[in-house]
Amino acid sequence: MASEILLEARNLTKYFPVTKGLIFTKQIGAVKAVDGISFTINKGETFGLVGESGCGKTTTSRLILLLEKITSGTILFQGKDLNEMPRDEFEHYRASVQAVFQDPYSSLSPRMKVGKIIAEPLIINGGLGGKEIEERVASLLDLVGLRKDAPILYPHEFSGGQRQRIAIARALAPDPEIIILDEPVSALDVSIRAQIMNLLREIQKKTQNTFLLIAHDLAVVKHMSNRIGVMYLGKLVEVAESEELCSHPVHPYTQALLSAALPSHPDIVRELIILPGDVPSPLNPPKGCRFHTRCFKPLPICSEQTPPLKEISSGHLVSCHLA
Ligand code: SF4
Repeated sequence: MASEILLEARNLTKYFPVTKGLIFTKQIGAVKAVDGISFTINKGETFGLVGESGCGKTTTSRLILLLEKITSGTILFQGKDLNEMPRDEFEHYRASVQAVFQDPYSSLSPRMKVGKIIAEPLIINGGLGGKEIEERVASLLDLVGLRKDAPILYPHEFSGGQRQRIAIARALAPDPEIIILDEPVSALDVSIRAQIMNLLREIQKKTQNTFLLIAHDLAVVKHMSNRIGVMYLGKLVEVAESEELCSHPVHPYTQALLSAALPSHPDIVRELIILPGDVPSPLNPPKGCRFHTRCFKPLPICSEQTPPLKEISSGHLVSCHLA
């Protein structure tokens, strides 16, 4: 059965203007944070976006969350362009997209009790009475594995992992269509990362939610995702099913990322690929393939022409002149 596309990004672009001058400001350039990327997220799947810090994955999630204005390109939700949606459908989209952020210490208000934190999106959306909200909060606490008296406590009375469970319960409260998980375990102790990842997988099985997972660690993304998109300097360089991407990475950057990720089995031995230099500035990205300044097998064409993202086998897309 064909997968149903829930969300689609078409040529999504976000440039942040760089200006000079205090009173009479003049634009002198633009940080090309996200530069014309296209991808789809299917209903009920986890789509992972992976790449080094500054590659544009968090900006992409902020565009989907409407926290940043799109420079050009579009987002389609359930086949409809957000720019052309009537107001009521746009408000429905806003409530349908929730997020869990990296730092459970700063993402929860320290002055609000946990019950209020989780209930807040329900109160804002309206439609439910006090008793129904209390019942919904209790069932969400049960779903994320938190104690029954949690609603009367404050976030500081919980550990980091428990706070992330509170953040997950809050994101689930309005019964969203898609939850953006932005580095959901990277601020947690290594010992509890697996617990939170497994919890998210269990929740997805029960609720059929769709996840967009943003992470820099390919091992985390592989563990959680059905499909993975790899980003480098504002561009998508490879997209494939998780198993396919990790067993047959084609783009040299994906190969390097994978070589640095912890293998899933201690018997798996990989040759570590160390990339030369640093990621170039997104203010002035290299011409041609953006990865050519660090690539370990570049061709003469690579510094001249940008390789298109093309399908090399079913559902496996790569942007590389070698592919
Ligand atoms: Fe390397 Fe060229 Fe492929 Fe870019 S297009 S990844 S520089 S081989």
